[in-house]
Formats: sequence, C-alpha cells, structure tokens
Amino acid sequence: MNASTAGSSGLIVVAGGGYAGLHVALRLTAKLRNHPQMSLTLVDRHDYHQAITELPRVAGGTRAADAVRIPLQDTLAAHVRFVQTEITGFDLADRRLLTGAGPIGWWRLVLALGSRPNDFAIPGLAQRALSLYSASDAERVWGAVSKALTAAAAGTDPERQRRLATVVVGGGGATGVELAGELAETLPKVASAHGLAADRPAVQLVEAGPTILAGSSPQLIGKAARILSDLGVAVRTNATIAAATEEGFRLKDGQLVEGGVFVWAGGVKAPEVVADSALPTGHNGRVKVDQYLRVLDHPEIYAAGDIASVVDPRTGHVLSPLAQVALEEGETVARNLGAELSGRPLEAFTFHDKGFVVSVGTRRGVADIAGITTGGHLAHLLKDAIEWEYRQSVKHLRGWDPIAG
Ligand SMILES: Cc1cc2nc3c(=O)[nH]c(=O)nc-3n(C[C@H](O)[C@H](O)[C@H](O)COP(=O)(O)OP(=O)(O)OC[C@H]3O[C@@H](n4cnc5c(N)ncnc54)[C@H](O)[C@@H]3O)c2cc1C
Repeated sequence: MNASTAGSSGLIVVAGGGYAGLHVALRLTAKLRNHPQMSLTLVDRHDYHQAITELPRVAGGTRAADAVRIPLQDTLAAHVRFVQTEITGFDLADRRLLTGAGPIGWWRLVLALGSRPNDFAIPGLAQRALSLYSASDAERVWGAVSKALTAAAAGTDPERQRRLATVVVGGGGATGVELAGELAETLPKVASAHGLAADRPAVQLVEAGPTILAGSSPQLIGKAARILSDLGVAVRTNATIAAATEEGFRLKDGQLVEGGVFVWAGGVKAPEVVADSALPTGHNGRVKVDQYLRVLDHPEIYAAGDIASVVDPRTGHVLSPLAQVALEEGETVARNLGAELSGRPLEAFTFHDKGFVVSVGTRRGVADIAGITTGGHLAHLLKDAIEWEYRQSVKHLRGWDPIAG
C-alpha cells in the first residue's frame, strides 16, 4: 500500500500496534463514528500484534510462536487504515511520519513504538546473547535451547554435556525470572526426549543487583526465590556481567559463567528511531510527556506505553515499562483524542495499579495484589486469567465498535 497522503488535517496516526497503540486504535474507532471527517491509520512493521507477556512460554517451548501473533487485520475495523511498514523517522516541522512506504501526514500522532533491549554497552552482549522481546526472539531462544540439547546429547563427557545444556539468563527482573522458571521446568523433559539424561540441563539466573524482582515486596521476592530454588535454578545476585565472550558471561569479579545458551533480559530502552529524533527524552531515552500524555513542546503528539516517560505524581517515579501501564495510557490517549474532537477538556493520566503477577515455572507463580502476597498455583492461575482476559478484551473492543466491518 502506498502510504503517502494528500492532506493530513483529518488524520490521526497511531505509530505502533502493541499494547498501547492497538488499544488507542480500538478505543478510538467507535469514538470516530460521529466524526466522519476524521480517519485513523495504524502503522506497524508487523501485520500482527504480539502478546509479549506470553513470550517466556514460547521461549520455554510450551506455546507456539504463532499463538502469540494476533493478526492486526482481524482485530481492526475495516475502515481503520493499516500500513505495514518500518517507521524510520519524524518530520516534526511538517508533521509527517517518515516510513518505508513514504511519508504519512498527521493531525494528531500517537507514539506507541514500545522499547528494545538495553545491553548497557556491555561488550559482546549484543553478539553473544539472545534477547526476548518478540515472538521471533522467543522462537530463536527455543531453537537455540533445542540445538544445545541435541549437541549435548551427541557428546559423552558429562561435564561438556552439562555446560552445553546450561541456559544462562542475564537479568533477574520479571522477564528473567519467568524465562528461567519456564525453562527449568521444561528442560528435563525435553532433554529426555533428546536422549540426554534429565539431570544434565541447568538454568542460571544472573542479577547485578542485590535481589531478583527489584522493587517488589520482600515477601514476593522470598516466595519467588523459593520456587526458583525448588525448580533447581541457580540464582546469583550482586553478579554484574562485565562482558559476554565465546566462553560465557564474564562477571565483574572475574568469574566466568559458562553455558550453552545465553539470554539477556536485563532491561529496555527507547527505540532507535526516537533516540535519533529531536523529541524530548529522559531516562533510557523515553519520551517526556505532560500530564495528558502529550509530548512536551509537541501538543499534537501523544505518547503511550514503554516509549513514554510518565511520572507518577504520587511517587515521583517514572512508571515501569509494563503492559498494564501501556493499556491504561492507551485508554487515556484515546479518551483525550475523543475529547479534542468534541471540544471537551483533556483528562490527566492517573495510573491505577492492579497489582504485580509473575509466573515462575509452568505451574506456579507469585503475586502482589492489593497488599496481599501469594505464591504457588493460585498466582499462576491468575497469570493465565490475565492473559486470557487480555485476549478477550481485544476481541470485545473490536466487537464493541458499532460500525466494524
Ligand atoms: C518477555 C516479556 C514479558 C513481559 N511480561 C509482562 C507482564 O507479565 N506484565 C506486564 O505488565 N508487562 C510485561 N512485559 C512488558 C510489556 O510487554 C511491555 O511493557 C509492553 O509490551 C509495552 O507496550 P507498548 O505498546 O509500549 O510496546 P509494544 O507492545 O512493544 O509495541 C510496540 C509496537 O511498535 C512496533 N514498532 C516498533 N518500532 C517500530 C518501527 N520503527 N516501525 C514500525 N513499527 C515499529 C512493534 O512492532 C510493536 O508492534 C513483558 C515484557 C517482556 C519483554
């Protein structure tokens, strides 16, 4: 599709069809019913929305990658224009998104391009470690694990087998914990299927800080650590990775963490296209916004999701890059665009924290909800329920559009 546009006065363009962008588009669709002069365009490099929160399951081999790719065409109403292309920059003066399919003009732009892995310039990390931020990344992790187990099974030296069948995960945040738990639970069974003794695979979780799941309650951290230990995950805290080499992760204290597969889950930063723009950015390159989620000095651009640096006025801290934050911000942006169209005042964004749930393995998890900490099967069921509810909400919002095609 040629993306070039003759005029942009009635155009709302959403850049990115992830948690934030898709929800802006879905919620805005119905609001535009009474504004036929307005049109809505969603731009993404993929023709599918990714359920990123489910990636640890794909990387652990318990879910197919295609199951977390939700086709955007099935999700968007027929009159929402979808352009599949790479966004390469912004022409802020002329209000145009620069893309591989040509420039796309906007009256209002919603920036929802998410984030990308942050390797903190650790030497060798980008080359040596896999990342986990897309369905394709997750497929690559699972492919590398299968290959390493096959190689281990072909050997006879138990030490070499153990090293090849060890997965080292860098970063003990929620992503690292979920991945480590998932793999620790599935690897013994998969090893047996490869003809490898079930005690050969191992999972190591390496965290630079003093604790995994930093920022969570001590109770939640304790419960997660117990489940990981029960699953046989070796957790190393206060272990800063200084370099990634052919042999493994070299720690700051000189120790070498060996393995057959290395995954980096140590943090995220804003996409390159934002770093290269003149947009105002803060910590980790995220775009600074006002209380209405409009980019500072650019009231015609909203930002939502990981890309936005949103300060929670109650704590004074920038909100974490989380799907639940992205969804709430997406709702506010859709409401504020609707308010602009109807001449109503804009609404300040307030984050309503629904709690924190992390799966640890295929059957257990930990959760902090309304000040109550739980660990075990219930927390895992909760995580399943959240993922199910999310998928239902996408379907419901499409159905909710009275003129969906
Ligand atoms: C493995 C993992 C597990 C997670 N689990 C949880 C969890 O359990 N709970 C939770 O709350 N959060 C979780 N998160 C965080 C959550 O996934 C993110 O906060 C969320 O995806 C942010 O939504 P977003 O809309 O900002 O970005 P995304 O969902 O990443 O969407 C960004 C979109 O922009 C598109 N895009 C980016 N750049 C370009 C470009 N240049 N051109 C065209 N298109 C582009 C991408 O294709 C993508 O569709 C997890 C993250 C990871 C990595």
